[in-house]
Amino acid sequence: MTINAGQGARVIVVGGGFGGWYAAKRLARVLPAGCSITLVDRVPYLLYTPMLTEAAGRSVSSRHIVAPNRTLPSRVKFVRAEVRAIDTRARTVTLADGTSLAADHLLIALGSTTNYRGIDGAEQHSVSMKTLDDARRVMTVAQSNVERASKTADLAERKRLLSVVVAGGGYTGVETVAAINDLVHDTARRHGIAASELSVTLVEPSKRLMAEMPETLASYGNKQLERDGIRVLLGVGVQSVKSDALVLTNGETLATGLTVWDTGIVPSPLIAGLDCTRGKKGGIATDSTFRAEGLTNVWAIGDCAEIPKPYAEGKFFEPTAQNATREGPLAADNIAASMRGRKVKPFEYKQIGELAVLSRYAGVANVFGMQFKGFFGFLMWRGVYLMKMPGLTQKAAILLDWIKLLFGRQHVSMAEGRAADRAA
Ligand SMILES: Cc1cc2nc3c(=O)[nH]c(=O)nc-3n(C[C@H](O)[C@H](O)[C@H](O)COP(=O)(O)OP(=O)(O)OC[C@H]3O[C@@H](n4cnc5c(N)ncnc54)[C@H](O)[C@@H]3O)c2cc1C
Repeated sequence: MTINAGQGARVIVVGGGFGGWYAAKRLARVLPAGCSITLVDRVPYLLYTPMLTEAAGRSVSSRHIVAPNRTLPSRVKFVRAEVRAIDTRARTVTLADGTSLAADHLLIALGSTTNYRGIDGAEQHSVSMKTLDDARRVMTVAQSNVERASKTADLAERKRLLSVVVAGGGYTGVETVAAINDLVHDTARRHGIAASELSVTLVEPSKRLMAEMPETLASYGNKQLERDGIRVLLGVGVQSVKSDALVLTNGETLATGLTVWDTGIVPSPLIAGLDCTRGKKGGIATDSTFRAEGLTNVWAIGDCAEIPKPYAEGKFFEPTAQNATREGPLAADNIAASMRGRKVKPFEYKQIGELAVLSRYAGVANVFGMQFKGFFGFLMWRGVYLMKMPGLTQKAAILLDWIKLLFGRQHVSMAEGRAADRAA
């Protein structure tokens, strides 16, 4: 159906992450005047996930790795709400308070959630690494555990509090374990605890880390983690998780004060309930122009969609920010083109590479087929992600955080301060 621009078409973008945020920004430029653009999200910002582990490790402030939605063009109406349901035939979106929003074009960009792989206790007793709250929780628990360990006389409890386990050795798991390791070593030093008392473990069921990276970089990364004192267990999975320990598939039980879960993703839970065609991984099946299969004027992008690569038979675009930030603008162009009855274009982007930061001064990068590691890999990671961070204010704030880090991390417990204020 072609909607005449003069009819004032309503476009709703559901989810304001990498895909939805950049789509909304572009829609404001390409949609004819008279059309409305609504962006719905539960949070009022775009979370810059590539720096989430830096926030968890206290290398940057969590406030600096978000781009507020108020910086979007004024044409974009932002609705802060939890989406409860989407009717893909009527193109309506139902919010938590029961409000229903109707659209002529619906762009679904709800992202993904952590894949707990059905492992007993994993969801209840671990922290995932997906949201700003997750990063703050990891940071707070990691630091307060070290602080508590310094005060307890119970040796078994001290050992448990000084132990961290990260499940999942993809690049986010690797970055997470490296960031936590730096943080707990720094905190332990300030509490007079020897590094040899700390136990930081990375558990990965396959035979190598970072499957996304070339073998040479993955193996460099592995050695680098071990050099920094991290125990890397390959070919070992997690069988079950409790509040104070986890059991591995090799039978070993690890007492732990903090378990972080990083074993991949599944599409947003809302997608499972939608009336749509789903792909092999449970995402919305689309064609290469982002049109949801079998639906009219419903489009899907990002981690919640399964978008075929037009240049590689049987392959789909990976769930990455790199892809989602490019899918968003093209989805906007395609929505505008279809309103005008023009041709829509397929998404043909090829990833330029992958980067991972290992510790404060080491990283790995595979860019345009060229491999970098060590300090240069680290500089590339910082350079590329700083450049990609939306907003000059955020870029400046992050740069300042990194400079401040040269003088050490801030170790003031604001939570304890607030509790003392309340008690006074
Ligand atoms: C720690 C970490 C590090 C990463 N590092 C990189 C990296 O270095 N490079 C890279 O390319 N990719 C990276 N990624 C992957 C990247 O973040 C995702 O692929 C990307 O965010 C997908 O974009 P999206 O728009 O599909 O989803 P998201 O960016 O996740 O956005 C989804 C949005 O939908 C909102 N939402 C979800 N459900 C609801 C609901 N029911 N109601 C209202 N709002 C809702 C969420 O609040 C969110 O804003 C990383 C991911 C993580 C977790």
